[in-house]
Amino acid sequence: MNSDRISQLRQQLQKASYAYYGLDAPIMEDAVYDQLYRELQTLENQYPELITADSPTQRVGEKPASQFQSVAHKIPLYSLENAFNLEELRQWQERWQRLAPDNSSPKFLENSDPNCPKDYVAELKIDGSALALTYENGVLVRGVTRGDGTTGEEITQNVRTIRSIPLRLNLDNPPEWVEVRGEAFLPLDEFQRINQERTLAGEALFANPRNAAAGTLRQLDSKIVHQRRLQFFAYTLHLPETSEESKIITSQWQALEYLKKIGFLVNPNCQKCPTLEEVIEYFEDWEGARQRLPYMTDGVVVKLNDYSLQQNLGFTQKFPRWAIALKYPAEEAPTVVKDILVNVGRTGAVTPLAVMEPVQLAGTTVQRATLHNQDRIQELDIRIGDTVIIRKAGEIIPEVVRVLTELRPAESVPFQMPTHCPECNSLLVRPTGEAVTRCINASCPAILRGSLIHWASRDALDIRGLGEKIVILLLNNNLLQSLDGLYLLQWEQLVNLEKMGEKSAQKLVNAIQESKQQPWSRVLYGLGIRYVGAVNAKILAKSFPNVDLLSQATIPTLSGVYGIGEEIAQSVFDWFRNESNQVLIERLKAVGLQLATLAANVENTSSSLILANKTFVLTGTLPTLSRNQAQALIEEAGGKVTGSVSAKTDYVLAGEAAGSKLEKAQKLNITILSEEEFLVMLN
Ligand code: NAD
Repeated sequence: MNSDRISQLRQQLQKASYAYYGLDAPIMEDAVYDQLYRELQTLENQYPELITADSPTQRVGEKPASQFQSVAHKIPLYSLENAFNLEELRQWQERWQRLAPDNSSPKFLENSDPNCPKDYVAELKIDGSALALTYENGVLVRGVTRGDGTTGEEITQNVRTIRSIPLRLNLDNPPEWVEVRGEAFLPLDEFQRINQERTLAGEALFANPRNAAAGTLRQLDSKIVHQRRLQFFAYTLHLPETSEESKIITSQWQALEYLKKIGFLVNPNCQKCPTLEEVIEYFEDWEGARQRLPYMTDGVVVKLNDYSLQQNLGFTQKFPRWAIALKYPAEEAPTVVKDILVNVGRTGAVTPLAVMEPVQLAGTTVQRATLHNQDRIQELDIRIGDTVIIRKAGEIIPEVVRVLTELRPAESVPFQMPTHCPECNSLLVRPTGEAVTRCINASCPAILRGSLIHWASRDALDIRGLGEKIVILLLNNNLLQSLDGLYLLQWEQLVNLEKMGEKSAQKLVNAIQESKQQPWSRVLYGLGIRYVGAVNAKILAKSFPNVDLLSQATIPTLSGVYGIGEEIAQSVFDWFRNESNQVLIERLKAVGLQLATLAANVENTSSSLILANKTFVLTGTLPTLSRNQAQALIEEAGGKVTGSVSAKTDYVLAGEAAGSKLEKAQKLNITILSEEEFLVMLN
């Protein structure tokens, strides 16, 4: 079993590695590669007898391709060990401190020693391609790619075209030889320009700037390399041991200073950090700030500053022990599907979801991902036991992007959606033309459960203490048959329930009773009518100040309300035609819910409000207002906020790091407001 997985992983990683290094056309995300690599490493640690010399864990990069001359590196180019979280970074510190030679150890523990060599240099990890440049008597004689770390490709002609690489060192008496290493990379605007050109020429696009840089360096025609404006940041210096400079330069920080002096571009964001905590601060500061850099970075490289300490620690087969790459959290990750469940929601919609081995994704641990519907399951052909790639974009629930079928266990079988509801066992239906499968049994316990959870949620009746667990507890004890039943619950019925107690029972009863004061718009949202979200509920509650007006409204009247489309109008109309919903409204009235806007507030609905009928789109980070605050101000003034820019948008309220929405607004000539202008407008 494990040996199967090991060989499957090896094959998959080898294939990916060749595509990445050999063809400059990756077939998977770096983060996905990293995780599968980790899995292989863990398995090989458990079963060392299964390690083979050609395993991707035993090699750095790939053998160079044949089109350039192969050159042996004077000093091997190692890779870097990865840390995917702060815990792994701390473990690395413990590891090197344990290994540090005895005579120097006390120094590491003594923070006050000004000559203490324990400080770190934190550098941004530039996502490009490593180069080794050799200068003889101050003149560039050779430029070589990293290749497999021992031998690389000689690409001197191409290297000469990179403007930030000096052809001659800025030194009067240069050492006999100097080797400078660093990262060749493509600035983002140049990367986009190249891909635009390739689109026009009908050529395959580069997947990312790193691959574009690697592909460019290995171009046979150096004129093309010249046209693509590659850049180079230097970060490593090697000198003959006997040289004068070698005696003076005893740390990474001094090396970076020297590299600048002799004519190299060194990334200006490097920082000397006396402690690991400062390294962590640097990493966290750059997590957001790196998005605004004109080049790609994928982490922070942490190096011990002191050369003698570096020398003492030395190298493993693949990495220096004195450096580590701390990677930024990934948006995509691979994991294994343990089970596929179906969940019945409050509308009766049946949603399949994958239960997976927990995995870190964009800073959180993820165990479940939505599979949307039957069509999506078929499209993915997802099976229990599959290795899948999941993605979390922004705040949205994670989803399965694709299945790595190469890693599929032999015995797996296709997943079939159930034909009957897992909650009430009634036959599920899938209306023609719809993607969603539904349970249409109105008394299905899942529907009542979902309705109650929604009713109590923050944007609806906001009943503190009535979360999913308590709802299930109440239902399991047969205390509720419908929403209005909540308002009839007595302390005596709750106090003896499992994990409840006197105080929490009283708190819950109070919270439920207090929710009767929530305004009509929230009650309307709480009813869970299809397509009526919190914003639409507010719009409807303003136009129809009580439930009777709303329930009698015709479809044309409803869709005549600014912001309410046909689909919503139809859904509201249908909801009020349903007899059990009519009964529910009468019962909610009877228990004292607000099904009308209080008279004092009605005047506020007038269309004389300053932003009446104006549509806003929010983008970027505003200097003082949060998105929710800005949205609330707009809505209070009669305006509406939508998610995307179109010709119907009146204003775009833009803050820092605004993205494509801002660009689109500029193209469509839509008025763009800063926070300050917006606040002036409101006043
Ligand atoms: P790496 O890219 O994770 O780290 C080492 C490299 O970092 C160095 O060689 C150097 O080029 C670069 N670097 C950037 N800034 C640096 C700095 N300031 N100081 C020192 N080095 C700096 O390791 P690697 O061995 O080049 O490649 C392994 C990585 O390649 C994997 O972690 C994976 O993300 C990626 N990879 C991806 C695929 C794929 O299919 N997507 C396949 C193979 C490898």
